[in-house]
Order: sequence, then structure tokens, then C-alpha cells
Amino acid sequence: MSYTTDLGLYIDGSWRTGEGRDCHNVINPATGETLAALPLATAVDLDEALAATAQGFAHWRTVDVNARAAILRKVADHIRERAEVIAVLLTTEQGKPLAEARTEVLSCAAQFDYFAEEAKRSYGRVLVRPTGQRALVLKQPVGPVAAFSPWNFPVNLMCKKMAAALAAGCSIIAKPPEETPASTSAIMQCVIDGGVPGNVAQLVYGVPDMVSRHLIASPIIRKVSFTGSVPVGKHLLKLAAERVKRTTMELGGHAPVLIFDDCDLEKAITLSATTKFRNAGQVCISPTRFYVQESVYDRFVAGFAELTKKVQVGNGLDASTVMGPLANERRPSAIAALVDDATSKGAKLLTGGSRGDQGFFFAPTVLSDVPMSAKVMDDEPFGPVALMRPFKTFDEAVAQANRLPFGLAAYAFTENARQANLVADALDTGMVGLNSFVISMPDAPFGGVKESGFGSEGGPEGLDSYYVTKAVHQY
Ligand code: NAD
Repeated sequence: MSYTTDLGLYIDGSWRTGEGRDCHNVINPATGETLAALPLATAVDLDEALAATAQGFAHWRTVDVNARAAILRKVADHIRERAEVIAVLLTTEQGKPLAEARTEVLSCAAQFDYFAEEAKRSYGRVLVRPTGQRALVLKQPVGPVAAFSPWNFPVNLMCKKMAAALAAGCSIIAKPPEETPASTSAIMQCVIDGGVPGNVAQLVYGVPDMVSRHLIASPIIRKVSFTGSVPVGKHLLKLAAERVKRTTMELGGHAPVLIFDDCDLEKAITLSATTKFRNAGQVCISPTRFYVQESVYDRFVAGFAELTKKVQVGNGLDASTVMGPLANERRPSAIAALVDDATSKGAKLLTGGSRGDQGFFFAPTVLSDVPMSAKVMDDEPFGPVALMRPFKTFDEAVAQANRLPFGLAAYAFTENARQANLVADALDTGMVGLNSFVISMPDAPFGGVKESGFGSEGGPEGLDSYYVTKAVHQY
């Protein structure tokens, strides 16, 4: 196994390494060992990236959409060719099992392919006018984008923003997370090798608050895209509001799962217990609050706990590992505090609840009969913790599902088609999964309502967020 130690910033067509910059230590979350030192951008670096992105946009917006698409498809090809190497980097620095890392890397290629083609179908409109007159609605790229993405899906979430922005004709400065720079830099190399000019796509790492303040304050940046926590999203929204900038905010959730007594219970148990521990639960759409109809509650809880006990926890590079460590040292203590609070208030700990001896491990955890007073019923654990509560009626279940200020994803299991339609209509979230947890794919809008954010990534809606409209009236 090899890990890249030669890390840098990609600004205006060249990689910049140490050279006196402050550094961030990149840690292997499975062992706690330091992997590499990552140079952090200075204000001078950011100013140079801003000047370059303005020039890059002036050029890229004029490139024919078919030529842009051809370049983006080459990027996708490079990602597929290098998927195995990038997946190993991702697992080493983020912790997820190698099979999940491979899937994530390949999802990046799928996004470049999808947006390359979808941009060709971004039509404007011709309005009805008297003979000889014209009124056109044109879609034009919004301008240079500043994109901030987190450490749970480091390459997928960076590519969601980058592929759509580039397809629409925008230039982009991406700031992926400092925790996982080798995999995001390897993807950046695919972008470069695919032919995207060095001032059109750039990559910086830094002190997050310093970088976001600097970039968002610049008049050159016309759009801000952020994926991460609700508090940071609110902070960036305020910065963007001061200069009235376009934003897309994909923030946290606390996804409810409604298990109705007419569902295929074995299927619901198996899918729930496998999906919950994917990426160690560090997924904004992770199923977390399980509301189970009374008559099947005991069977669901027992079956879920049984499968959870069998989840093989270990280093993501080991073939037998089903769940790796958490991604950084902040997470185990945050989760332990939530679990301790819940058990002290009466929740039953059916399995898990403890931290590992080394690295940032936390055991797959199931809590049943969790009281509403437990903090974890309100605060997203963002880790391998499943919460179980019984319900009696449809209305009660929907009220519980919708009671939080978040509205990203929700799920329901029922074999009754009418009930499925009613629950899909009633759930106050941006996405609903019925009898499945698979809700993220390139051609579908991904995003939330309420404090989970606004705007979509994915689908034509995701592309649209990188365009402005211009109405042209000719008399
Ligand atoms: P955090 O709130 O400190 O950071 C969340 C993300 O935002 C990180 O990637 C971080 O680098 C970035 N960030 C922080 N401050 C920033 C700033 N001023 N400008 C730009 N980017 C900034 O939390 P954390 O400890 O990294 O993660 C914990 C919480 O974040 C979780 O509980 C979860 O709710 C949320 N989260 C959500 C997602 C998601 O996919 N929606 C992803 C990661 C984390």
C-alpha cells in the first residue's frame, strides 16, 4: 500500500507544495498515525487563485458545450482507469472499507459523464411575440464558483460540484476537506489530464474559515456551494448574503425511517442494518431514527440488533472489514457523549456503545426505547448509531418523522401502495426512499428542505444552479 506524501495546492496550472506554508497533519483514522503534511493556502495563494479563476471563466464560458463535454468525458475515463489507486488513498485517509471507496470513486466518473451530456440539453426559451419581434430567455453560466465539501464522501461530493459547474461553463475553486487530500488531489489530476485548463479548475486546502471568508468576500466569486453541517452552512450563508451571492446549501439531516407493519419485515431489517453502518454512519442521509409500528417493533429491533452484532469492524484495507473507523478524532467523543446521555435517560443499549483501543473506532450501536428527552433524538449522531422507537398510528409516525428542523431524507417501508403514496406526500424532506435506501444518483436532484438547506445537486436541477437566466427583448 502506498500513500502520496507529496501533497499540494493546484493554482493557475501548477501544483504548489510546502515552500514555507503552514501545514495540516493528515492522519490515518484506523491507526492514528500521521500520513503526510498538507500545505495550507495563504492569502496570497487565494488571491492568485481568484485572479486565475476570473481569466479561466472568461475563456471557458466561450468553449462550445460539445468540446467541454468531450473534455469532461475524458476526465471520467481517467477516473475509471485510476479507480483502484484512488480508492486505496481514500480508504487510507478516510477509513471507509475499500469496496465502498471503489464505489465512491466510480460515482465520480458517473457524475462527469452525466453532466457532460446533460449540459447539451440546457435549452433556453423563445417567448411568443408579434411578427418581427423576439424575446429570448438564455441560460448563461453564473460565473466563478467557490465550492466547499466535507470529509465523509471526499471525492464524490467534490465531483458533484465540480462536474456540474464545469459542464455549465463555470470556473471553480474547490476546497475539499483537509482530512483527505490525497484522494481529492488524485481526482484533480484526472481533471487536469482530461484537459480542463489550469485556471478553470483549481484546488486549495487551508484553514476553512480563512479560506471561505477570503473567497466569498471576493467580487470575482459569483456562486458558493457548500456541503457540511447546519451551523457552518448558516455562517457561509451570512457571508454570501453580504454580497448577495448565489448559494447551494446541502446541510445535515437526521433521517427517519418508518417501518409499517405491512412491510416485508425481513427485507426491511436486512436493508436497514446494512445501510446504517455504511461509511460508519457518517452519511447525511443515513437512516437513524427508526420508528417501528408496535406489532412488529420487537421483531424488528431484535433482528436489527442481531445483524449489527455481526458487523465486522476493522481497517478498511482488510478485505473482511464491513465498517471502518470514524473519519477524524472529533467524532468518537461526540458520539460517545450522545450515547451516554441517552442511556442515562433510560434508552436500552442493545449492542455497541464503546470506542476502540486505537484510531477513531466506535462500535456499531443500537439503542431501543430511546426517550424523547435524549439529545440524540434531536442531534444528528453522524456515526454508527441506530435509534428505535415504537409508534401506533400513521399520523403519529409522520408527526415524529417531521418534528425536527431538518428535512433532508426520509424512508418508509410498506407493501401497501396507497400508504406508500400518502407517506411520500406527507414526509417533509427533499428526498424519500420507499422500501429502499438508494436515493443518490447523478440524474436525480439531491438536496433538502428546512434547515437541511436548499438547492439541488444532481439532475437537471443541479446543473441549473450553475446558470443564470438572461431575457433578451428585440423590437
Ligand atoms: P464542522 O461543522 O466543523 O465542519 C463540517 C464541514 O465544514 C467540514 O468539512 C469542515 O471542513 C467544513 N468547514 C468548517 N468550517 C468551515 C468554514 N468556516 N468555511 C468552510 N468550510 C468549513 O463539523 P465536523 O466536525 O467536520 O463534522 C461534524 C458535523 O458536520 C456532523 O455532525 C454532520 O452533521 C455535519 N456534516 C455533514 C455532512 C453532509 O454531508 N451534509 C458532511 C460532513 C459533516
